[in-house]
Amino acid sequence: MKKKTTVPKYEGKDLEYYNDLIAAAEKVRKQMDYHASEALDCSNADKRGVTTHMADVSSDNSRHEMQIRMLSEDGDVLTLIDEALKRLEQGEYGKCQECGERIPDGRLKVRPYAIFCVKCKSKHEEMMRG
Ligand SMILES: [Zn+2]
Repeated sequence: MKKKTTVPKYEGKDLEYYNDLIAAAEKVRKQMDYHASEALDCSNADKRGVTTHMADVSSDNSRHEMQIRMLSEDGDVLTLIDEALKRLEQGEYGKCQECGERIPDGRLKVRPYAIFCVKCKSKHEEMMRG
């Protein structure tokens, strides 16, 4: 019986990018699983009707909110990875979506799903800060 594997259609650098993206997605999914089970634990405790002091309840709530927020942030990264994979397919991977410059490999190693070069990203961050 043949083992079914997905045949990588990429070579050389592209294959490296592809593997990095898959590894990053894998990592995020694992984190999401972890956060999801943690968040679930909180709601289970609520259902069991565990009575706690007011102070505990409020800290529990903020912890819960933080986990929800982390879940959605992880979700965003998955979307970014998905888009990066599409760009890789189209031969557009590693190009800054703003100025069209190549994003340096060093940056792609850290953030394989980066869409902006460092210059454009810091420009955006400055704009966000106002
Ligand atoms: Zn740029």
